[in-house]
Amino acid sequence: MNRLFLRFLIPVLLSIALATVLVYAVITWLFGDPIEKNAERQAAPQIFLIEQYIDKAATDEWLARLNKVREVSQVQFELIPLAQALEKVDRAQVKKLQSGKIVIDAANRALFRRVDLDGERYIGSDEDVLYAQNLPIDYWFNIRLEIVRFVIVAFVLLIPIAFWSSAHWRDIQALSLVTTAIGDGDLSVRATTSSKASIYPLAQQINLMAARIEQLITAQKNLLHSVSHEIRTPIARLEFALEILQDSADSDAESINTNAEQEKRKQRIQAMQADLSELNTLVSELLNMAKLEAQGQLNKVQLDVNALVKECLQHLPPMRAYLELQTTLAMNDQLLQVDQRLIVRAIQNLLKNAFKYAEQRIIFSVRQDSDQCLITVEDDGAGIPDSDKEKIFEPFYRLDRSRDRATGGFGLGLSIVKQIVLLHGGSVTVLKSEIGGARFDIRLPI
Ligand code: ADP
Repeated sequence: MNRLFLRFLIPVLLSIALATVLVYAVITWLFGDPIEKNAERQAAPQIFLIEQYIDKAATDEWLARLNKVREVSQVQFELIPLAQALEKVDRAQVKKLQSGKIVIDAANRALFRRVDLDGERYIGSDEDVLYAQNLPIDYWFNIRLEIVRFVIVAFVLLIPIAFWSSAHWRDIQALSLVTTAIGDGDLSVRATTSSKASIYPLAQQINLMAARIEQLITAQKNLLHSVSHEIRTPIARLEFALEILQDSADSDAESINTNAEQEKRKQRIQAMQADLSELNTLVSELLNMAKLEAQGQLNKVQLDVNALVKECLQHLPPMRAYLELQTTLAMNDQLLQVDQRLIVRAIQNLLKNAFKYAEQRIIFSVRQDSDQCLITVEDDGAGIPDSDKEKIFEPFYRLDRSRDRATGGFGLGLSIVKQIVLLHGGSVTVLKSEIGGARFDIRLPI
C-alpha cells in the first residue's frame, strides 16, 4: 500500500468514527436514544402485557395476575424495593423511574417500573418496583448496526481515496526516480508524467530545469575544452620563442657588460619558462578532465592487484628523503576489471598528494572489504578539515592557499580521481587517518 494512502487512512477512519459518535449524540438529543428506542420496540410484548393485562386487574388481584404471568412467561418478573432499583438504573433514568414510567436497561435486557405511586395494589406497593429480566432485547444488534454503518461509510470514502492516492503515488515515485537520477548526475533523464496527472506542471518544471542544467554544463565543458585546446598553440609558440631568446641571450653574453646583468636576464627567462611549463601542465590537466567527462566507455582489462600496486609505484616523482612509504597488499590474486591507465592515474594522484603533504609516514594499502576492493592512501600530514571533505573533490578547490602555493598543484588532482572512480562504479571518500593526516579510500567493485 502506498504511503500517501496510509497517511489518509488513519485521519479518514478517525473522522468517520467521530462522525458516527456525533450523529448518534445529535439523534439522541433530538429524538431520544435510538438504542433504547429499539430495545423498547423489542420489549413491546412484555410492556403490553404489564400495561394492558397485569395493570388492568382489579386492585386486589394485581399480585395474582402477576403470578399467573410469571408461570407462563419466559421473562423473569421480580418485585424489588424501590431503593434497590434506583441503584440499578442509570443516573439519568432515576427521575423517570420515580415518576412511574418504564425504564429500559438495554444492555442487561431488563426493564424497571414502579408497581404504583400510591400503594393501592398491596401494602407497600408504592415502595416496590417490577423488575423484568431476560427480555427479548438484542442489544448488540444496535451496536452491529452502528458498526455496519461505519464500515460502509469507510469503504465508500476509502475506495476513491485509494484510487486517487495510488495514481498520485505512482507519479510521485516516478518523479522521485527522475530527480534522484538528476541528482546523481544523469541530466539526460526526463519525467514522462501524463499531462492529466496533477503533478504534471511540477514534472514539466523539473524537465525544463534538467534541460537547462544539461545545456549549461555542456556549454561549460565545450568552452573549457575549446579554450584549453586553443591555448596550446600559443603556448607552444611562446616556448619556442623563449628558447630562441635563451639562445640569443647566451650568444649575446659577451656584449652584455656585467655578469650581474647577464645573470638577471637568464633568471627572467627561466622564470618565464617555469610559468609556461606550469601553464602547459594546467592545460594538459584540463584537457584530461574534459576527456574523462566525455568518456562514455572505459578500456577495461583484467588486472591482478599485484600488478596494479607495482604499476602505481612506478614513475612517481621522487619522495622527499625523510618520508617513509609503507605498502600493504592484503588481497591474493584477485582480478579487477578496470581501465588500467585511469585507475593507476587516480591512485598516483593520491600518492603524489600524500608525498606533498605527509610529515613522515605514508601508508598505501590494498585489501578486500566484502565484495569491494579497498585502496587506501593515508599520511600523517595536516589532514583535511571536516568542512572541506566534500569540496576538495571539486575542480580547482584548494585548501590553504599559502600551503598549496608552496606545494604546487591546481586543485584538479582529486576531481580527476573522483571522476575516474565514478566511471568505474566505485566511490572515493576522505577520512581522518589513524596516523594523523588524511586518509583517502577508493572502493572499487570486484
Ligand atoms: P592539488 O593538485 O592542488 O594537490 P588536489 O585536487 O589533488 O589538488 O587536492 C585539492 C586540495 O586538497 C589540495 O590543494 C590540498 O589542499 C588538499 N589535499 C589533497 N590531498 C591532501 C592530503 N593528503 N593531505 C592534506 N591535504 C590534502
